[in-house]
Amino acid sequence: MECMIVYAVDAGGEYVTLDEIFRRHPSDARGIYVNLTNRCTCACTFCLRTMKKMAEEHTLWLRQEPLTGEVRKELDEAFSKHGDKINEVVFCGFGEPTMRLEDLVYLLKYAKENFHGIKTRLNTNGLSDLNYNRDTAPDFGGGILDTISISLNASNAERYLALTRSEFGARSYDAMLEFATHCKKYVADVVLTVVDHVEDEEEIEKCRKICSERGLRLRVRAYEDK
Ligand code: SF4
Repeated sequence: MECMIVYAVDAGGEYVTLDEIFRRHPSDARGIYVNLTNRCTCACTFCLRTMKKMAEEHTLWLRQEPLTGEVRKELDEAFSKHGDKINEVVFCGFGEPTMRLEDLVYLLKYAKENFHGIKTRLNTNGLSDLNYNRDTAPDFGGGILDTISISLNASNAERYLALTRSEFGARSYDAMLEFATHCKKYVADVVLTVVDHVEDEEEIEKCRKICSERGLRLRVRAYEDK
């Protein structure tokens, strides 16, 4: 099965090529997604990526990570064919985009410089500070990133660790929250997310409180919703 580097998401979380999405919905403006890596520092219990057989058969499972030049080429093609209908470039995919932080920042800049007026978004686990052992929020400054969507997952460190199985252990939750708070200085829209079917209403309410205490926005998202 051919792997997709730049792709779109249709109703119900179906991953499709750009030609297919704009054939199905010729008059809709929408975001496109960039799949940089399968790697991640978490192994979330609900992540398709952790179910290896399923992952290997999946169109987003990269046999080899694309070079930045290959991603650039796909973005150029996407915008030359469908540019009038693309309103956002989202770095997302099967793995954690910040595993390739330098390439990610380069591509965010490339998108802003080459596709006039385009919005950019990053979906992340928010653990890049721990992965690189430094403050990484400033990397997203300078207007290259409009929205950062960070997986909050839970209202406390124990529940978070049980769900994400982060390789950094118990300190992950606080580090993720600190990163999110720090991002407010550099990114206009900082959103934390929880998955609706993983958490019950009481837990979601607690997550809401954590976000409002820090001036962050919470989005409760469906499992396959990007
Ligand atoms: S952080 Fe995202 S990519 Fe990584 S294991 Fe969890 S759901 Fe999957």
